[in-house]
Amino acid sequence: MKKSEAKKSALSYERKNFWKEAKADQQKAAYNYAEPYKAFLNQAKTVRETIAYTENLLKKHKFSVVGKKGSKKVYTIFRGKTMAMAVIGTEPVSNGVNMVAAHIDAPRVDLKQNPLYEDSSSAMACMRTHYYGGIKKYQWVSTPLSLHGIIIKADGSKLEISLGEKDNEPVFIIPDLLPHLARKEQYTKNLADAIDASKMNLIFSGRMEPATEEKEAIKSYALKLLNDKYGITESDFLSAELELVPAVQARDAGFDGSMVVGYGQDDRICAYTALTALLDNLETNPKRTMVIYFSDKEEVGSQGNTGAHSMFIRDFIGTLLAHNGEDSSSANLRKTFMNSQILSADVTAAIDPNYPGVHEKQNAVIFNHGIGISKFTGSGGKYGCNDANAEFIAKVLRIFNTSGVFWQSGELGKVDEGGGGTIAYILANLGAEVLDCGVGLMGMHSLYELCSKADLYSTYLGYKAFLIAE
Ligand code: MN
Ligand code: MN
Repeated sequence: MKKSEAKKSALSYERKNFWKEAKADQQKAAYNYAEPYKAFLNQAKTVRETIAYTENLLKKHKFSVVGKKGSKKVYTIFRGKTMAMAVIGTEPVSNGVNMVAAHIDAPRVDLKQNPLYEDSSSAMACMRTHYYGGIKKYQWVSTPLSLHGIIIKADGSKLEISLGEKDNEPVFIIPDLLPHLARKEQYTKNLADAIDASKMNLIFSGRMEPATEEKEAIKSYALKLLNDKYGITESDFLSAELELVPAVQARDAGFDGSMVVGYGQDDRICAYTALTALLDNLETNPKRTMVIYFSDKEEVGSQGNTGAHSMFIRDFIGTLLAHNGEDSSSANLRKTFMNSQILSADVTAAIDPNYPGVHEKQNAVIFNHGIGISKFTGSGGKYGCNDANAEFIAKVLRIFNTSGVFWQSGELGKVDEGGGGTIAYILANLGAEVLDCGVGLMGMHSLYELCSKADLYSTYLGYKAFLIAE
């Protein structure tokens, strides 16, 4: 290396490529870490399934429901769709917690509440749908979908449905129009309008009772099959939450196998890295209380009783104070949040080789360069975002540097290109220091999101170091 080059690298900020700089055992660890991650993505395709997976793991690690005296490892699940877990530190909880907060909902296509109908023109039974979150509708047609969710029957009993994941189970298709006949119907339209949401009906079934004279015999037969298999009637759909998700499994991607492709990585990649970071810190006995928060409804604005705007996380921390024998008054709860430091664990957009123009390269996240931090999200003139304080960013970077975590800084895209938000501002409204910090994905919100194993692993290491920091 020439002298002038050496001087430049000493003074300038340059992100490091994990595969260039990480030690061989770290590189191997990154590949190993991705194996159970893929299994998680395949088991946790919905919010409720993610909660069930997490609770199962917490129980294995001897966590108990908050309120059980004496336990330092506690959790709460609320309405089956949001949860928080904590490991109580040696200092009072009111000194502030170290929290990593991810969301566990992902864009999907829901069945409507009264979905089933017989289409006379095609002589098929179909299901009407209503999409959830920011999807590009054309991606959801002509692709195998599985049906997940719950049905609460009239007597209050709960039926859990998962159909289309196993090899011997059928999958569902929303057929796309053949190109031969798409000239007027699709090709003259904008990409966003080419698939109308009212034409996203899935083909459910086609058979009928032999020799029947019944009207709508195909729909009737579908109802009979549903009743045989699940014991439900048509009105049970009204009290159901049934979701269509991609029927394919997460798997390695790229010739070198250095990436993972799979559905729902926004934001379950941050949920998984946060969860495993907490569990791998159980032996450390840190001063500050470690908290992981999984919120719901982020993709539709974080509203409702399971979204980040809800009472839930405040109630959890309040209950944690009481659990630890501390004052759980409103004043002490406020003080606890104001003493807390939080990573808003959400994905960001990595540069896609086909569309580099939507990013400003110097301030964008690039695959294989580690966990991505974003001082702010939002759009335009930084509207609708948390804007992390410089003091807190410096602190987080100190934590990462001390632990040898590969990290980089990046905005979501060019300033006036578009934008997006996270739950960071919602938690910052409570007074905590909050920084957006997560994995850069390609193809975010698609059925097949792509991540780098180097970034996946670096994010896990980053959260792990942050959770035990003072
Ligand atoms: Mn997200
Ligand atoms: Mn999203």
